[in-house]
Amino acid sequence: MTAMDGSGNNAPAIGIDLGTTYSCVAVWKHDRIEIITNDQGNRTTPSCVAFADAERLIGDGAKNQAAMNPANTIFDAKRLIGRRFSDSKVQEDMKLWPFKVIEGSADTPKIVVSYKGQDKEFLAEEISSMILGKMKETAEAYLGKPVKKAVVTVPAYFNDSQRQATKDAGTIAGLNVIRIINEPTAAAIAYGLDNKPNITGKINVLVFDLGGGTFDVSILSIEEGETFEVKAVAGDTHLGGEDFDNRMVDHCAWEFKRRWNKDLTGNKRALGRLRSACEKAKRILSCMTQTSIELDALHEGIDFSMKFSRAKFEELNMGFFRKCIETVETCLRDANMEKSYVDEVILVGGSTRIPKVQSMLQGLFGRKELCKSLNPDEAVAYGAAVMAEKLSGNTHKSCRDLMLLDVTPLSLGVEALGEVFNIVVPRNTPIPTKKSIIHVTIKDNQSFVTIKVFQGERSRSTDNHLLGKFTLWGIPPAPKGVAKLQYLFEIDSNSILTVTAQILSTGETEKLTITNENGRLSKEQIEKMVEDACKYKQEDKEYKKKADALNALEDCIYNMNNKMKSMAESKSLRKMENAIADTTTWLDHNRDASVDEVERMMERLESMCI
Ligand code: AMP
Repeated sequence: MTAMDGSGNNAPAIGIDLGTTYSCVAVWKHDRIEIITNDQGNRTTPSCVAFADAERLIGDGAKNQAAMNPANTIFDAKRLIGRRFSDSKVQEDMKLWPFKVIEGSADTPKIVVSYKGQDKEFLAEEISSMILGKMKETAEAYLGKPVKKAVVTVPAYFNDSQRQATKDAGTIAGLNVIRIINEPTAAAIAYGLDNKPNITGKINVLVFDLGGGTFDVSILSIEEGETFEVKAVAGDTHLGGEDFDNRMVDHCAWEFKRRWNKDLTGNKRALGRLRSACEKAKRILSCMTQTSIELDALHEGIDFSMKFSRAKFEELNMGFFRKCIETVETCLRDANMEKSYVDEVILVGGSTRIPKVQSMLQGLFGRKELCKSLNPDEAVAYGAAVMAEKLSGNTHKSCRDLMLLDVTPLSLGVEALGEVFNIVVPRNTPIPTKKSIIHVTIKDNQSFVTIKVFQGERSRSTDNHLLGKFTLWGIPPAPKGVAKLQYLFEIDSNSILTVTAQILSTGETEKLTITNENGRLSKEQIEKMVEDACKYKQEDKEYKKKADALNALEDCIYNMNNKMKSMAESKSLRKMENAIADTTTWLDHNRDASVDEVERMMERLESMCI
């Protein structure tokens, strides 16, 4: 079967690694995976959106101006997506972000920026959709045709809300997200395809994925390079390179205070500059043992310069590195696997370049060589594109035979009497899956029941993440403990959950629709956001058209000026001089003019300078 688009060509489906700090897009073309370079020639794009007085910037453009416009340059949307405002991680992160986050309705975090002189509020889904939209455009420019379908990756440890919200972001960007897959699984697929000729029989791989904001470990078995069975996942959706940067920033701020007795932590511009200098220094420390951070006029005109050693960097972040190793151990335990049964340890994510992370991991596996053959920044997008090719139906042999057996990362269940968490689907259950549980009424003549669905590993329900709640009405009158209620949990291959509650005696059912109240966007909200996204895109286009028209007029003035220099004194020379002076003055005072007006001015100038 082959999917066709309107023009009769195969409709392309892309793979997108939507990272906390960087994103990457890939596609199957010419019988192999191509990582697509963006308009700046880069293979990864900063997951960053900036709002300025006149325009919106996404990717490299946004990151490049971040230090000058810190309050309106948004990054880390992935750390917010699918979380509540009151989440302790959100509260912690907010202290470090130079942009403003407020509490929206139903505990939803909203990002506030000033755009074209007005305050605008955005949800994390909308910011992520802008990045996904940029990746879509990058692919379209490369392929020369529209792209509608994508496989998007998420950390294996993302909960249902975070996955749903990522899917919504895709919809807002005009993408049909045909599958959400886990980042380490995608990396394993890339490894499997790359090493297919060498994989005979079954091998066990451990994917260690430490990116900018998230950390994931997955243990998979790969059979003949084609069947990928996830055995266990573990991780932390809030641990990565940015945490290491933050420790460095804190240390520098402390050092600044020690030297000058001045606190720079309230100075957003200084913090932004310091953060970017620390990130650069961190990368250097992966290949050198010492570097320095130099920033002119960092705060209140004071220049800042300090040496940073690799040892200091390691000392500051040792707690995080230890946590990574403990997580690997948990994952091995959950997979019921001895270390010695792991055939390959695959490194993914930019932060796995840190020598200490590598040496600690190597130490755990008895000095085993780590697999560094995959590009850690690109492997996830690579695997996602393989999956996209398989699912789009445009199947090349290498992708057609691929089979993926994934697991659910966190336990799912309902609240029982006394806030007890009653697990229905234990963590690391292979998906897709269907599991049910029977509860009975807890009161005489109870006519309805409110079902609260949680995800997590704590025994008290309220310590876990509330995914949603819904009410089932119409229980026939009966003494307590008589009426039976069945709760059916279904998880599809995107790891997305539907819960159906049924009164067994009457067959009455109710399904869980995660409502707004629980952080999920409604259909109407998504439609409104799609509309807004089109509006912003149109505005961007118009801004570019206007900027092009103004540039063309400036060019024209410049060319006419040059032409004038080679002309002899004459009446037409004076006419030309006046026309150029008039146009220059007009341009100085009318930079807000419409494209039509600018074009008319240019025609006028050209006609007067013949
Ligand atoms: P990813 O999300 O996989 O693109 O990883 C991005 C993270 O990797 C960022 O926090 C980067 O600062 C970090 N990173 C990239 N290269 C290096 C390096 N050479 N040493 C340390 N960290 C790095």
